[in-house]
Amino acid sequence: MTTDVLVVGAGPVGLTLAVDLGQRGVRCTIVEQKPAPEFLPKMERCNARTMEIFRRMGLAGKIRAAGLDRHVPMDVYVALAMNEPPLLRLKYPSVAEAFEAIAATNDGSMPLEPYQLISQYTLEPLLKAEAERLPCVTVRYGCEFVSLSQDAESATATVRSRGGSTEEIQAQYIVGCDGGGSVVRKQLGIQLRGEGNILRLHQGLYYCPGLFDMIPIANGPGKGRHYHIADGQSTFLIMQDSTKHWTLHAVVDSAQDMAGQFERTVGVPIRYDMLYVGQWKQNLLLADRYRAGRVFLAGDAVHLVIPTGGLGMNTGVGDAIDLSWKLDATLRGWGGRKLLDSYEVERRQIGDRNVGASRYASQGRRKWRSQYRPNIRDASPDGQATRDNLTRIADVEQRKTNEMIGAELGYRYVGSPVITDEPGGPEHLFRDYIPTTWPGARLPHVWLAKGTPMQDLIGPGYTLLRLGRSKADPSALERSMLDTGAPFETLTVPDEVARDVYGYDLILLRPDMHVVWRGNVPPEDPVALAALVTGNA
Ligand SMILES: Cc1cc2nc3c(=O)[nH]c(=O)nc-3n(C[C@H](O)[C@H](O)[C@H](O)COP(=O)(O)OP(=O)(O)OC[C@H]3O[C@@H](n4cnc5c(N)ncnc54)[C@H](O)[C@@H]3O)c2cc1C
Repeated sequence: MTTDVLVVGAGPVGLTLAVDLGQRGVRCTIVEQKPAPEFLPKMERCNARTMEIFRRMGLAGKIRAAGLDRHVPMDVYVALAMNEPPLLRLKYPSVAEAFEAIAATNDGSMPLEPYQLISQYTLEPLLKAEAERLPCVTVRYGCEFVSLSQDAESATATVRSRGGSTEEIQAQYIVGCDGGGSVVRKQLGIQLRGEGNILRLHQGLYYCPGLFDMIPIANGPGKGRHYHIADGQSTFLIMQDSTKHWTLHAVVDSAQDMAGQFERTVGVPIRYDMLYVGQWKQNLLLADRYRAGRVFLAGDAVHLVIPTGGLGMNTGVGDAIDLSWKLDATLRGWGGRKLLDSYEVERRQIGDRNVGASRYASQGRRKWRSQYRPNIRDASPDGQATRDNLTRIADVEQRKTNEMIGAELGYRYVGSPVITDEPGGPEHLFRDYIPTTWPGARLPHVWLAKGTPMQDLIGPGYTLLRLGRSKADPSALERSMLDTGAPFETLTVPDEVARDVYGYDLILLRPDMHVVWRGNVPPEDPVALAALVTGNA
């Protein structure tokens, strides 16, 4: 069998890549060792940037319809149990409230789409169905990647079906999206480095349809998405998208302990089924390389973070979307060699940064949890002092996990060979997002007249924005861009708000909506600029 791109692994990252490639008309095949998507809990929050990406792919509406109801609060609690007064409530807007805040803001500081809670076991079948709908995507479950070889012309993978028969798939490119234990990465001899096996936890999945409606229980925490139990076992209850399923994480000795742990966390008798218990470990690891020849790596195959901050899958979706259009451009012939070279330069720095963001958030979590003392439930001055101290520290430290809008939206590709170099640039901040059009940054969201978002007007190719009352003549740049063979259009936007937020008259965007050049007058050498941004310089 032959294909243009072989994607290994149908987790959320591989499926996003396959769908995006398929939407661009790239012939691709995705192989997955499992016979079908599994009903196992993992991620549950698509962040704002991921939802913007899914919006561009035409999927945001479907994902919201399949995910958590938009009116359910997203609050986070620290408590002793669900039926006891919370020690701390951190209030976060529901999706509906977040949409209202976004609608009322037009200074570039907000994303176009807020986050969405959707369980990984809901998202994967949805993305699989999208991939299967695309005529140029072949989806093969029950097909395990075994080994690969490559030469200057192509890459060949050996795959094994569940019956045991093996087969070769020849591709122009292979992308390993096969998760933390990536066989593709191991075959390439690429190492993960950092801190491995930091903490081992059990995770349980519970079907407990009555719990959500009972909340608040007694004077306990109200409705929300995360309930951190202030104990010595790092116990943490998460509402899943249906509100009928819940997951609990805890450091316990054995799987059997997870039933009692759930009952103690809820605090009152309730009917439930424990559907699954497994173990997972916390890692902060980054791969040395994201590519070897015609083989690329994306998602957990190259970065493993602690779920604090929810940056695992979300970082992987960013990898997929960075790589997809570059593969398309290269296969179509207008993308120069440096375009695919830029993938590792751009995405590895974001992987590195998000491993750091996850460390920052998890250290915060550990800090408040280290204030736990066995007397925390005592009705004594000492017990009260323990509760007060832990709550005070959690009020600062737990926020690190839940308030990382800078890590989500503010990443910028520095030192990329396909982005113009403007020395300097704003600092990368985890907690704060400051809108910028510094080359390498994502185009900030701005509302135009009649409530049209600028991002919705940006097409799938390169876009030159002519903003405000600019009289600049962009025709030489337009000609140079079209001469490369890349898809290109000019968008004239007289809107003054956009000009004010973006700060420049002319902005050149690439297909993933990242800025590659900006100026108030046309570039001195438009041919050189066009060659640079398409990887042909
Ligand atoms: C408890 C928990 C909570 C989390 N919460 C969040 C969150 O809220 N937000 C977030 O962004 N991230 C979260 N994460 C992280 C997130 O789940 C991962 O980052 C994400 O699953 C990575 O996606 P992936 O597609 O790269 O890899 P995976 O999801 O691991 O998918 C890899 C796929 O490849 C397949 N595969 C492996 N080997 C082969 C082979 N040889 N041949 C064929 N197929 C193969 C596997 O079967 C699997 O389907 C959480 C993780 C955990 C453990």
